[in-house]
Amino acid sequence: MTKYTPTIGIEIHVQLNTKTKMFCSCDNDSRTAEPNTNICPVCLAYPGTLPVVNGAAVRSAIKLGLALEAEIARDTKFDRKNYFYPDLPKGYQISQFDQPIVGEGYVEVLVDGEWQRIGVERAHLEEDAAKLIHPAGKDYSLVDYNRGGTPLIEIVSKPDIHSPSAAKRYLQEIYNIAMSLGITNGDMEHGNFKFDLNISVSDTDELGTKVELKNLNSFRNAERALSYEIARQTELLEKGEKIDQETRGWDDAKSKTFSQRGKEMAHDYRYFPEPDLPPLKITDEMIDEVRAVMPALPREVRKRLESIGIVVDDQDLLIDQPQTLQIFDDAADALEQPALIKKAVNWLVGDYQPLLARGPSKLTGAHLAELILLVDSGDISGKIAKDIFAEVVNGASPKSIVADKGLKQMSDTGELEAIVKDVLDKNPQAIADYKAGKAQALGFLVGQVMAATRGQANPGLVNKLLVQYLQA
Ligand SMILES: [Zn+2]
Repeated sequence: MTKYTPTIGIEIHVQLNTKTKMFCSCDNDSRTAEPNTNICPVCLAYPGTLPVVNGAAVRSAIKLGLALEAEIARDTKFDRKNYFYPDLPKGYQISQFDQPIVGEGYVEVLVDGEWQRIGVERAHLEEDAAKLIHPAGKDYSLVDYNRGGTPLIEIVSKPDIHSPSAAKRYLQEIYNIAMSLGITNGDMEHGNFKFDLNISVSDTDELGTKVELKNLNSFRNAERALSYEIARQTELLEKGEKIDQETRGWDDAKSKTFSQRGKEMAHDYRYFPEPDLPPLKITDEMIDEVRAVMPALPREVRKRLESIGIVVDDQDLLIDQPQTLQIFDDAADALEQPALIKKAVNWLVGDYQPLLARGPSKLTGAHLAELILLVDSGDISGKIAKDIFAEVVNGASPKSIVADKGLKQMSDTGELEAIVKDVLDKNPQAIADYKAGKAQALGFLVGQVMAATRGQANPGLVNKLLVQYLQA
């Protein structure tokens, strides 16, 4: 059997969350707006109107470029990409052709325990098209121009990706970078983060015929669709058949890709420089200003988490949940000791997740650290900590819950001795069993003491006292 190598390239469109659109002052957030309410003569292409570049979108592109370790173009410009379609009122899209604002860069992703570098060819600014709506059973389509003119960054990868899992990691990494930079709302259901995948397989040094996968809506589906395509294309080649150059979609229910359209005539978009916008100069000052406010990037966070022994799945969860990561960081600062810091991770990836799924959380790193220290010092038992955790997530301080409810663990020997004696008086059979060599009788008695103290007794101390009495 021949060994076929898959090669994958990815184009990602990130909708920016700037206040206004790319070239006009319309509100850029139409998630709850009625159709065709966030529009103006500029984004509807009325004659005589002129576009103005959104400075915030330019800063977002610089931010992304720095995060991708890319060269930021000092001289960049916008170009017209000409095509006719009802979602494009001007008859062209303002995009960037040969002088994109962001040049070559890369991301590093952890694939199956190994760091891989995946190159980015370029990233450029452009405007989104309007949204077409096709009402079921009607012989017409509707156009909602609210989305028209939304700022987009298109990120084009190099064909450096050779496995579905690496593709998924790349997509997640770019998503996490964009989210940590705060440049997009990242709502995938609203199309804030869309991607097209190009995939080919080959058994030589030359690339095979590529198939484009479009309209995928999740990272998981991207991985599944790529695995399916690799198997499908490999099988065709092994049978001596040819791969059609085409666009395919993903059918989630059937778990397979399907042909959407065959090879189209190569589009001639007749790109030319946008005459209504002067070339854009990016100065060192602009870049320095952006650099000064760069947050920690996912790979830096990942390396930091890895250095303190946090496993990959837990790293993923913390990176995917910036607020949880913040809680972790604050708790870790207060806890200092590695063993205690790991306990903070256990709480956050464990008990915290179902509570977080139920509604907004008021958990703070300081409260989490307080809870962990209360258990560590023996002031409360692990069980009590679990019992009160929901209240802590609702914003209450663990110390005040423990004080208000009198939950402090009983570590006073005198107080416990009385309870231990009482339990022994009431359970002569268990004493007989223990003396007859049945070890589980001790467990039973510990349980009785714990129940009598509503879980507040220090289990270690209870154990010690019981053994003392039983062996006396
Ligand atoms: Zn407008």
